[in-house]
Amino acid sequence: MDLDRRALLKLGLATTSGVVCAPRALSASPTKTPPPDSAGVLVDTTLCIGCRKCEEACNRRNRLPRGVESFSDRDVLRSFRRPSATAFTVVNRFPGSPSADQVGVAETYAKVQCMHCLRPSCVSACIVGALTKTPDGAVVYNSTICIGCRYCQIACPFEVPAYEFNEALAPRVRKCEFCVDRAAGTGANPACAASCPTEALVFGRRADVLAMAKDRLKRRPDRYLNHVYGEAEVGGTSWLYLTGRPVTEIGLLDLPDTPPPQLTEAIQHGIFRYGVIPIAFYGLLAALMWRNRPTPPPGPPGPVVAEERPGAPGGAPRGPAGGGR
Ligand code: SF4
Ligand code: SF4
Ligand code: SF4
Repeated sequence: MDLDRRALLKLGLATTSGVVCAPRALSASPTKTPPPDSAGVLVDTTLCIGCRKCEEACNRRNRLPRGVESFSDRDVLRSFRRPSATAFTVVNRFPGSPSADQVGVAETYAKVQCMHCLRPSCVSACIVGALTKTPDGAVVYNSTICIGCRYCQIACPFEVPAYEFNEALAPRVRKCEFCVDRAAGTGANPACAASCPTEALVFGRRADVLAMAKDRLKRRPDRYLNHVYGEAEVGGTSWLYLTGRPVTEIGLLDLPDTPPPQLTEAIQHGIFRYGVIPIAFYGLLAALMWRNRPTPPPGPPGPVVAEERPGAPGGAPRGPAGGGR
């Protein structure tokens, strides 16, 4: 194996930084039970009319670039969209009634954004702690320490974080931050919920909006499927959905209840326990250094000591012991 010193150094830095950062990643997951005042939003897809007011309010609130189409242009609903670096929330349209009791309604609309998971995979995956879960439920991002590895993008089970690929100098991860300052701590609605004309979005304490969702399920079994999406999926999310049809028919992903960090952290704990990685790395390093140790280059021939034969031509003259000057 031909591994030069520079390659060894790179490998060492990568491995060492992984080891140094591992404890941060392991400690990143918040507890499964949200704090009592943790915020939430109930999205009732049977009430959404696809007006895109939420998209517009989010765009304005986050000072995002405006597209060429106006937000009243419903042609964009022809294509399925995902949240992006310039649109933290999008509404999609699906053919078919929102629920069994809305037969006169031909289409279903569903808004998507970051779900602000209770056990966020993005937080767990971020090796520098650029993503954190705040006590009020929001998962927020610190661009000043982000190293652009995009592990959060890979980790998110809802495929939410977007990356500013068009920014050459300082690209950021972008996503909904739950309007985290919410009018400087007054608890005011996020912009999207405040702008919704049909109350398809209801903001409040997660515990309260969950209770509201369950109450609607009890009162309107003809309208809703008996499930609150986000109550348990991936360990629970701050945004909760009521639907009148299977979530997979309206662009939401069918996900297990197990929080992904539970699995990944178990693997990380196993790998990093007892310093297996650093010991293995430095063992490999030592082996490679031994294998690639320098061999002395062939130098100029040394003085030839002629056989000492008295009287022989070219023979060294005999002198006093130890050589004379
Ligand atoms: S939806 Fe994705 S980006 Fe949002 S908190 Fe959950 S894991 Fe993080
Ligand atoms: S909470 Fe704020 S950032 Fe998130 S989708 Fe709504 S308006 Fe946009
Ligand atoms: S503002 Fe409300 S009704 Fe309009 S698209 Fe958004 S969630 Fe639906």
